[in-house]
Amino acid sequence: CDVESQKERVVTEEEWLQKWEMGNIGFHKEQGHPLLQKYLDVLLNGRSGLRIFFPLCGKAVEMKWLADMGHSIVGVELSEQAVKEFFSEHSLPYCEEQVPEISGGKMFQSTSGNISLYCCSIYDLSSSIVGKFDGVWDRGALVAVNPRDRQRYASLMINLVEKNSSYLLVTVSYDPNKHKGPPFYVPESEIKSLFG
Ligand code: SAH
Repeated sequence: CDVESQKERVVTEEEWLQKWEMGNIGFHKEQGHPLLQKYLDVLLNGRSGLRIFFPLCGKAVEMKWLADMGHSIVGVELSEQAVKEFFSEHSLPYCEEQVPEISGGKMFQSTSGNISLYCCSIYDLSSSIVGKFDGVWDRGALVAVNPRDRQRYASLMINLVEKNSSYLLVTVSYDPNKHKGPPFYVPESEIKSLFG
């Protein structure tokens, strides 16, 4: 496949915010992802009470699902609208605070304390702000990152995980000459070189 056709494509932060404003969010699914159910054991690996990270989280319903199983969830999402919709659609009370390390950054946390969603760019995060994670659910995240930022994204993710962590990655496979993305086509060879 020819991935050159997508290499230069850039979706700006403003465009993502507009998608949320316009309700142009075909990526959001009301039902939990079947692949998370299928590979849940791989993610948990017999452990309980994990810290699980949702990069580019949107209002993914799987966050509620894993939180209800006793895990603690951290997500990051550019759109404040998305974050607020997540809490309101699950009738979860939350509080909102500034994140002093991030200019303009906010953190929305469920009152029960087990779901924390950072409203900022993922590139503003570091392990000194959010700590390290035992598990990652990467769906609509690597494939939504602009192709030119993939290396930076992968390096950050590697920095945010503990040594014994599990990383579930969902990608999409299609002919990149036929769609401009996102989601972008990320070939398996590139995933191997990004994550080693
Ligand atoms: N993972 C979610 C959403 C996928 S769409 C799901 O499975 O439903 C990608 C999301 O990433 C959008 O909600 C967009 O607003 C957000 N996003 C895009 N660039 C981002 C960035 N640099 N930092 C944080 N969020 C970002």
